[in-house]
This record gives sequence, structure tokens and C-alpha cells, in this order.
Amino acid sequence: MSELFDVVVIGAGPAGYPAAIRAGQNKLKVACIDEWKNHDGTYAFGGTCLNAGCIPSKALLESSELYHRAQHEFALHGIKISGATFDVATMQARKSKIVKTSTQGIAGLLKGAGVTALVGHGKLLKSDGTNNQVEFTDKDGKVQILSARHVVLASGSIPTELRSLPFDGAQIVDSWGALEFDAVPARLGVIGAGVIGLELGSVWNRLGAKVTVLEALDSFLPMADQAVSAEALKHLKKQGLDVKLGAKVSGADKGKEGVTLKYTDAKGEQTLVVDKVVVAIGRRPFTGNLLGEGTGVEVDERGFVKVDHECRTAAANVWAIGDLVRGPMLAHKGKEEGVVVADLIAGKHGEVNYDIIPSVIYTAPEIAWVGQTEQQVKASGRPYKIGSFPFMASGRARAMEAAVGFCKMISATDDDQVLGVHIIGPMAGELIAEAVLAMEYSASTEDFQRTIHAHPTLSEAVHEAALAADKIAIDFPNR
Ligand code: FAD
Ligand code: NAD
Repeated sequence: MSELFDVVVIGAGPAGYPAAIRAGQNKLKVACIDEWKNHDGTYAFGGTCLNAGCIPSKALLESSELYHRAQHEFALHGIKISGATFDVATMQARKSKIVKTSTQGIAGLLKGAGVTALVGHGKLLKSDGTNNQVEFTDKDGKVQILSARHVVLASGSIPTELRSLPFDGAQIVDSWGALEFDAVPARLGVIGAGVIGLELGSVWNRLGAKVTVLEALDSFLPMADQAVSAEALKHLKKQGLDVKLGAKVSGADKGKEGVTLKYTDAKGEQTLVVDKVVVAIGRRPFTGNLLGEGTGVEVDERGFVKVDHECRTAAANVWAIGDLVRGPMLAHKGKEEGVVVADLIAGKHGEVNYDIIPSVIYTAPEIAWVGQTEQQVKASGRPYKIGSFPFMASGRARAMEAAVGFCKMISATDDDQVLGVHIIGPMAGELIAEAVLAMEYSASTEDFQRTIHAHPTLSEAVHEAALAADKIAIDFPNR
């Protein structure tokens, strides 16, 4: 039996579900297929982000941060608590409840937009441009063929495995496993000082694990502005994260006493004994049984589905979005692609501005940026100016006991356009939104300078950084 849809979306993560919802809002007949199965055997929409990524990690970051503050900060406020303890089971139950509420919310949103939500596996069979066919196998194994004018591939990504350190689900785990520990490992090894390694390393470090992060590169957070990277490394080390750069893991021996990691660094061969290892060396696009023979969809050498700037694949009326395609593996990037593709299918205008995608790392202090780093601007040869404002000069940050880090604005000297904003400090992830909006409108430094920022707020740091770019800062000496 074949049912005809305007759009069939394969994958209901943060790329796929917004595509389906916007297509439904555009009055198209839509189906959205997802096969995500949780460790307890339940199926859920929301993909990696809601089930095993953004949301559960932020829930645990919040809990562990509160514990850390109770121990190290409350006394400064005159709040005396003795013997603060925590219960991992309660933290995990809270996290699971948040995940469940979130994923059930997606099911509700799909329903509300008139989307036929299907639980099971989707496979693009053939694509002739007008009558594309998707094989849908439901969770009980029943197969159905769906016909669709348009197919949107949004099957996401999976963790990259280290050949010398294969996942075993117990001692050597991926990020999902590290979100589900039922006890704090006394010694935790993290392979990769990327976003996952630092966020999850922070969670378990705050809860008492001795965390060692082995990073293959000699540089730390190379994608961030180097002033921010240096500041972040300083704080993370101070918090107890033992970050070892230039550490190349060659293998591991598993025994009763733990996992002995073997690695080489500048000093030669080394070993590190830990109880558990999280491998967080990146993620790769997932196309498992997604494409039948002769679909015309092309995949590059790294496994990404090839798309143009509007997310069109090489096959007519087949689109691909999110982690499955080039660009940063971020939920909000996938979401925007999904919305744009659904609008383009409906004959509306849509465009993703890939130059203005914010990045946030939810460590303490938080790190956030948008646009170019100073290193990128310098390499481009364009003359630039820099304004920087430290949070220690912010009254609000001091009142919050959070006066660390800075906001740095990089602007072109020729036309004053803001090229990049880089923040490390309290609520950086929230503060960056102002810069994203302004830069979307090609704001100048003067636009930031003339915009009134409420006092006392952390956002004054962005304002002052803009003033500092022209050496007219008020709340900090100009250099
Ligand atoms: P996914 O979320 O992976 O969703 C793809 C969905 O498709 C899955 O549900 C999968 O089961 C389903 N699927 C795959 N193949 C098929 C098929 N053939 N048939 C049916 N269904 C299929 N990003 C941020 O922006 N902010 C964060 O704070 C953040 N934190 C993260 C923390 C962790 C620990 C991890 C692992 C990732 C984090 N990310 C974060 C990245 C973010 O999760 C991804 O960028 C995002 O989930 C990608 O969305 P997607 O829809 O492309 O893919
Ligand atoms: P990543 O690319 O951020 O970091 C991987 C790190 O592992 C890099 O520093 C890399 O040099 C290092 N590495 C690679 N191979 C190694 C090896 N053999 N030994 C030691 N180190 C090695 O990847 P990730 O942290 O796994 O995250 C995956 C994706 O998920 C990222 O693209 C990220 O954008 C996304 N994510 C985003 C957020 C967020 O937005 N806050 C949070 C978590 C994950």
C-alpha cells in the first residue's frame, strides 16, 4: 500500500522535527519517521539532542554546578551549609524526567502541526524527482511504502569510535554512556578535549571524579578565539580538570583494577589508570540503511551527504539537513536548515546564514562566540580593531560572584562592521544572542555603542567591549 505525502522527513532530531513542523505549518501533507530507541526500550522523538545530547548534558551540568557552588561559593554569601551531599540517582532521575517531558513535547508539536509521526526506520528507495519512495519499517517489522514529492534526510550523527579503544558500554563509553553513569567514577579518562569532553568532564569533575582529559592536538580549543581558549584552559585546570595536550592514545588494557590507557606525548610513552573512559573524539554522519540502490544521493569521503547551499542533494527533490551534512554539528544549525528547507519546498524564500551561527560551550565559565576569531580576521588581511572588557569590571558579575572572563569584540577598521564577538564568562551563552542578532543585520561597532544596555546587567560587558574597540570605554581603563 502506498500513501502520497508532500514531504517525508527521515529523522526527528532538532533538524528533522522543525522541518516537519514548518512543512505542516505550510499546509503540506507531512510524515516524519524516527527510530530512536532509548536504553530502557522506549521510543522517543527529538534525536540525539533531546535524548542523549544537549538536554541531558545541560541537566547534569546544572545539577553538578549547583553542588559545586554549594560547596565553594555559598559561604562567600554568608550561607552556611555543612555536609552538602548529593545523590546521583536523584540527579539522573531529574535528568530523565526533563528528557521525557521534552521528547513528549516534540510528539505533541508534530501532532499539533498535523504531521503523521511514524515510529520506525525510513529508507529512501528511489527518487525520480516527482514520486520519491520511502520504505517505512515500523517497530514491529511491518513494511509500508510511502510516496513523497519531497524527501528530507535528517538522520543525524553517531559518535566516532577509536579503533584502539572500542566502546564496551561499561568501562569504555561514548557520550551517551557518560550521561548515564549511576555512580561517580573515582578516576575518569576523557579522550578528546572538544565540546563533549569538556562539558561531561566538568560534570563528573564537579561531582568528585579525578578527570584526566587526553587531547591529541597540541592546541586547546583551536576553533575558538585563542584568547578565549587560553582563559578557558586556565579556569578548567584550576577546577581540577587535568588536560593533557599532544597526548595520542594507542590502546588500553582492561583489568579488575580499571583501564590502563596507553598514550604517547612529548615526554614519550605514558600510561594512565582510570575506572572509566569516555571517548569524545567527534561524531560522524549516520547513513545506516538510509539509502537504497540508485537514489542519486551522493555521499562524500567522510560520509556526509553532499548538498548545495540550500541543502539540496544531487537527487531531485531530496534534501538533507543537520549533522548529516557539512557545517557545524549543532542543534540550532540543523533547526534553521530544517525550517529553511520546509519553506523552500513550499515555494517561499529561505536562506541559512552560515557565517552567523553561534557556538556555546557550557563549561564554567561559559564560552560563546559568533563570527570570526581574531586569528581568522588576521589571516584574512583585513585591518581590524579589538575591544575587550573583563567581567571583573562588571558590577553585576561581581554581585553574582561570577567576575571571571571577558567579552571581546573584533571589528573592521575600514567600515566599523563587527566581525566577531567572543565571550567567556557568566551566561555567555545567553549574552551572545545580542551579537548574533546585531551581526545578522551587519551591525557596526557604533550600533553596539549607541544601544542602551540596562544597568546593572552582564550585557553591559558587550556594550563596554564595543566602546573599548574605539578606546572610549567608561567602566574600564582604555588601553
Ligand atoms: P540527531 O539529533 O542525531 O537526530 C537524528 C534522528 O534520526 C535520530 O533520532 C535517529 O534515531 C533518527 N534516524 C536516523 N536514521 C534513521 C532512519 N533511517 N529512519 C528513521 N530514523 C532515523 N548541540 C548544540 O547545539 N548544543 C548543545 O548543547 C549540544 N550538546 C550536545 C551534547 C552531547 C552529549 C551530544 C552528543 C551532542 C550535543 N549537541 C549539541 C549536538 C546536537 O545534539 C546535534 O548537532 C543535533 O542533535 C543534530 O541534530 P540532527 O537532527 O541532525 O540529528
Ligand atoms: P569535537 O570535534 O568538539 O572534539 C573532539 C576532540 O577530540 C578534538 O579536540 C580533537 O582534536 C580530539 N581528538 C580527535 N581524535 C583524537 C584522538 N584519537 N585522541 C585524542 N583526542 C582526539 O567533538 P565532540 O566533543 O565529540 O563533539 C561532537 C560534536 O557535538 C561537535 O561537533 C560539537 O559541536 C557537538 N556538541 C556541541 C555541544 C554544544 O554546542 N555545547 C556540546 C556537545 C557536543
